[in-house]
Amino acid sequence: MRIFESDVLCIGAGLAGERVAVEAAQAGFRVICLSVVPPKRSHSSAAMGGMQAALGNSIMGDGDCSQIHFADTVKGSDWGCDQEVARLFAETAPIAMREMAWMGVPWSRVVPGEHTYFKGGKPFQATEKKENEGLIHSRAFGGTAKWRTCYTSDGTGHAVLFTLDNRLLQLGVEVHDRMQAEVLVHNGEHCMGCVARDLRTGELTGYFAKATLIATGGYGRIYRATTNAVICDGGGQITALETGLVPLGNMEAVQFHPTGTVPTDILVTEGCRGDGGTLLDVNEYRFMPDYEPEKAELASRDVVSRRMTEHMRKGYGVKSPYGEHLWLDIRHLGKKHITTNLREVYDICTHFLGVNPIHQLIPVRPTHHYSMGGVRINKDGHAYGLKGLFSAGEAACWDMHGFNRLGGNSLAETVVSGRIVGKKLVEFLEGYETVFSTAAMKEGTTRVQDRIAALLRGAGDDCYTLRNAMQDVMMEHVGIFRNGKDLQEGVDKLQELLERCKNMRLVSGNIPGPNAELSMALRVPGMLKLALCTAYGALMRTESRGAHAREDYPERNDKDWLVRTLAYWKEGDSLPTLKYEPATPFFIMPPGDRGYGGGKIIPGEIREDQVVPYDQKG
Ligand SMILES: Cc1cc2nc3c(=O)[nH]c(=O)nc-3n(C[C@H](O)[C@H](O)[C@H](O)COP(=O)(O)OP(=O)(O)OC[C@H]3O[C@@H](n4cnc5c(N)ncnc54)[C@H](O)[C@@H]3O)c2cc1C
Repeated sequence: MRIFESDVLCIGAGLAGERVAVEAAQAGFRVICLSVVPPKRSHSSAAMGGMQAALGNSIMGDGDCSQIHFADTVKGSDWGCDQEVARLFAETAPIAMREMAWMGVPWSRVVPGEHTYFKGGKPFQATEKKENEGLIHSRAFGGTAKWRTCYTSDGTGHAVLFTLDNRLLQLGVEVHDRMQAEVLVHNGEHCMGCVARDLRTGELTGYFAKATLIATGGYGRIYRATTNAVICDGGGQITALETGLVPLGNMEAVQFHPTGTVPTDILVTEGCRGDGGTLLDVNEYRFMPDYEPEKAELASRDVVSRRMTEHMRKGYGVKSPYGEHLWLDIRHLGKKHITTNLREVYDICTHFLGVNPIHQLIPVRPTHHYSMGGVRINKDGHAYGLKGLFSAGEAACWDMHGFNRLGGNSLAETVVSGRIVGKKLVEFLEGYETVFSTAAMKEGTTRVQDRIAALLRGAGDDCYTLRNAMQDVMMEHVGIFRNGKDLQEGVDKLQELLERCKNMRLVSGNIPGPNAELSMALRVPGMLKLALCTAYGALMRTESRGAHAREDYPERNDKDWLVRTLAYWKEGDSLPTLKYEPATPFFIMPPGDRGYGGGKIIPGEIREDQVVPYDQKG
């Protein structure tokens, strides 16, 4: 078996993994990045809309600052986030964006003079300041008080990922693509790398590293209808969970995006609504202001998705062979705007839907989109439970998103947390010595070999049958609106599927070289564990907060549930063990009303000494 050694092993080479790798390589450490696809094809490249940072350059962002960004983020999270982390994030975001400009990101820039912008479908004039000419521009996104989403036309993720990947080349970082991490190598205290499977040859490969980073993105593919790429199967989170030592945080916190297209589930960016797009029902009536008079289409995603579902339940959905949907209208933005600022949306609609958005309405419905939950880390990015294990990006629960992340905050999180976690990882490495255990490597390798051998012996269902059944259970039982009865049924069904995995059958057998079925079969039991963490966490959380909406517990309960769920998985168990910790170490902004979304709150008691001013570090 081939064994590689490095200072840092980044499992995942999307924006978060690459940003951490850059920080470590710049400090002179040897870094290896693993990715199941060539890094530039990571899911980050699909992000169109933009990244939030309080730069305040555009006229509609005038007066913006980190405090306002922080406040929007906390309200967006429905007070589920760690406020110390949210502050760290909001303060670092402007630096991180300027740094990306320095690395070469071609941000869209402020052009002085009068411009026509749109709000709620209505045009208005605004004059960009002469003195801000050429500075990084911004657009509106949901749940924000100011326009602060920096963008590169509508290919933001693409541009930033290509820039970072080029930087990795400059720094000589080694990238091993088509390499899928299967298990972490550890001795119960220290993480010292992973065992990966080469997707080209099927060969198992060992990686020893002093510090290991999980940056494998979200776990959206546990749902049937998701905007996530096919590789977003939670591979990194599975390796962490299966150690039995590292918990996953708030796995029940799953975001649905209002504008997944029908029937492909491809996302059209929030930039559409930010730039003035409106949502219409079967009668082409704009219904959002009736539900959300203040923010309308620009309330946070959890709120808009719920309102859309409510409206369809009242019978105002558009019937189609692919189920009910609503319409997104961007026609009034005009040809120039749609083919420049929303160019990818134009391409998606014309290529995949046969719809020309300059003249026609776009069919949309809420679709699974983002994983707020993930590997629980502290504010420095260190995972709970294992020394030397770090995580960043969507794979992690850092946790600045709580129960709903704001549009534009996730791409920003990748480069901001990548920067912060990268620096902390470098601090950790300086002067750190360890002994790599060949026994631990052997144990990890044997685990994977045993799994493959069991699949070759299996006589039951194939992996696709079990995966598809899991995705349907998640859609049906753990969706936008949840209740105890459905969730319990969902948990029961997922447990049964997990049991059936023990006898999973490999139809293709152990063919040499690439074997897509084997790669999936090795994933499915772990995906079911993630699904169970999500469903069981949702069942036990008897309140509604952010994207977690319980019909039987409609109130946000700050008295009993201002906590984060920690899910552990002990070997041989069929359910996670749940523990809870306070959502935030202190409050800068005590719990209150978000200003949109309605809903009752059961207040909790907050002591005076738990509240600190924004500018007081601690
Ligand atoms: C369609 C779409 C549009 C979006 N638009 C926006 C937006 O406009 N603004 C915004 O803020 N957010 C947006 N988001 C969210 C944002 O894009 C993601 O949260 C972010 O890009 C995640 O980056 P990441 O680096 O954490 O993970 P990813 O980019 O998903 O990278 C994960 C990496 O891990 C690798 N990997 C996975 N499993 C394994 C394994 N087992 N072994 C080895 N490697 C592995 C992958 O190959 C990849 O390199 C969007 C999301 C979607 C789905």
